[in-house]
Amino acid sequence: MSQNSTTQGSAAPMLGVLRPQIYRFKLGGFEVTQILDGFRLGAGPHPTFGQDQSVENVHKLLQENRLPTTNFDHHFVPTLVNTGKELVLFDTGNGKGRLATAGNLRELVVTAGYAPQQVDVVVITHGHPDHIGGLLHDGQPAYPNARVAFGELEFDFWKKGNVREARKQNLQLFQEIAMPFGEKATLLKPEAEVVSGIRAVNAYGHSPGMLAFHVESDNQRLLIWGDVANHYVVSIQRPDWATGFDDVKDMAITSRKRILDMVATDKIAVAGFHMPFPSVGFVEKLGSSYRWVPASYQFNL
Ligand SMILES: [Zn+2]
Repeated sequence: MSQNSTTQGSAAPMLGVLRPQIYRFKLGGFEVTQILDGFRLGAGPHPTFGQDQSVENVHKLLQENRLPTTNFDHHFVPTLVNTGKELVLFDTGNGKGRLATAGNLRELVVTAGYAPQQVDVVVITHGHPDHIGGLLHDGQPAYPNARVAFGELEFDFWKKGNVREARKQNLQLFQEIAMPFGEKATLLKPEAEVVSGIRAVNAYGHSPGMLAFHVESDNQRLLIWGDVANHYVVSIQRPDWATGFDDVKDMAITSRKRILDMVATDKIAVAGFHMPFPSVGFVEKLGSSYRWVPASYQFNL
């Protein structure tokens, strides 16, 4: 072999992390698309998760689940449901500019094969920034032909504006970008039908009027649970630990346990806004605890 031959074959360049951002599956006659608006890498999960626990308790649980103890990756995953008659978007992500690593929903809706103009209904599970931030795009409604639906109690809560200190900035954002939709918005109570096959479920607590949504087609069922559980290990294995993100902590815990029990008992699939992408899974009951079971090929068959 000549000396020159050792210079042949150059190393491929490093390209950085590549994450999946879109996952679509069938639920009976519906199509459901999970879209990664983005993510946030930060310190934690403690003390945001396990706020009322010792750092050792939380670290032990994380280690048992093979997770790092001092930093974590928080996903933001809106859900788009095509019923065949209506295209319904659940939550709008962060919107551009709030976080460098999030706010990509609207362009990924296009990548997934839809025009923003095709969205018929935008449903807001609750008024936190990562859920309402993408209601506007360049100051205009991001989904211009969509009617917008809020929980009645949730909308009323933000309208009254009596929020805790940590939500003051959030209140300002809500007033700026969500309130203007109020006049024409649909206001939903628990059990209200959004469109045929989709109804609201009481999930009060994480935010005072948060709603989850039960989706059913041809006996296939999915619960879009918003922020019922925000960490796939801590919030699900220890549902009664306090969470910094929860606005009414006792009520959030009660709702979390009721909904975990319901989806585990009835074997209802879950789309979880902050579950690891593609954020679709099941919940298994283990004694007084639960476990997140990510979906694998169930929906591809
Ligand atoms: Zn959230």
